[in-house]
Amino acid sequence: MSQLLGATEIREIAARLDLTPTKKLGQNFVVDANTCRRIVKAAEVGPHDVALEIGPGLGSLTLALLEIAQSVVAVEIDSRLAAELPATATSHGFGDKPLIIVNQDALTVSELPVSPTVLVANLPYNVSVPVLLRFLELFPSLNGGVVMVQSEVADRLVAAPGSKTYGSPSVKATWWADMSSAGSVGRSIFWPIPNVDSSLVRFVRHAPAGDENLRRATFAVIDAAFAQRRKMLRGALSELFGGSSPASAAIGAAGIDPTIRGEMLELPAYIAIARHLPGFTS
Ligand code: SAM
Repeated sequence: MSQLLGATEIREIAARLDLTPTKKLGQNFVVDANTCRRIVKAAEVGPHDVALEIGPGLGSLTLALLEIAQSVVAVEIDSRLAAELPATATSHGFGDKPLIIVNQDALTVSELPVSPTVLVANLPYNVSVPVLLRFLELFPSLNGGVVMVQSEVADRLVAAPGSKTYGSPSVKATWWADMSSAGSVGRSIFWPIPNVDSSLVRFVRHAPAGDENLRRATFAVIDAAFAQRRKMLRGALSELFGGSSPASAAIGAAGIDPTIRGEMLELPAYIAIARHLPGFTS
């Protein structure tokens, strides 16, 4: 018998907990063990990894992580699910593997009891981007991972400059990591079946492009550029630089054409502009 969860058991546990999956918390549970193993493999989880999972739900992916990783730390907002997870792990033969559950909103987590090395998660769709960026920022011990997100969000995370899906998450994520697509996932592997498609995004952390001061300045420039993405950069950044002329001068001094649109630029260009922000010192 597979050690992982299947469709029948998932419904049984949900019925026992009197749990009706809610859209508000993005509760679409994976009912296919092969998909869980595929995700863990794509993340290259190894026996020395401390795996971090956001939103373990009924435990489908958690058990696949426990199969391989040294230990798992899982952040779950729903207390009924958080409370049930240790029993599910034990009844599937993983009682001796360290599993730490943090019953908290992932968007408020600022520390964890262990330093995770890999992030593997089927992220709740409504908070997937802020959760991913937050954990990349707060947990430098995370070397990489794979997240399952809505396909539309996956497209944004891996988009290249100039494409219509390229946006601030695409640029911001590259501050910390190289992002790439790791394939799509059929709707039928979820219960309940969602009305959107899902895809996998892989990330591998690289050396940071600068210190926290530079990151904040750079993200302010990115936010301003994409808030008015149809405008030329000198117009979109005019408020930030105190007028169109100083914005133009700063963008030019960074070696960039001030008439270009922000959606054409990659992270190094934003960093170069941020260094010319009024009051910036590094
Ligand atoms: N990992 C499970 C699976 O693949 O079957 C469940 C994934 S389900 C898409 C998302 C999970 O995230 C749910 O268990 C939900 O309760 C939880 N969740 C939703 N919002 C959350 C938040 N802000 N912080 C932590 N967990 C959250």
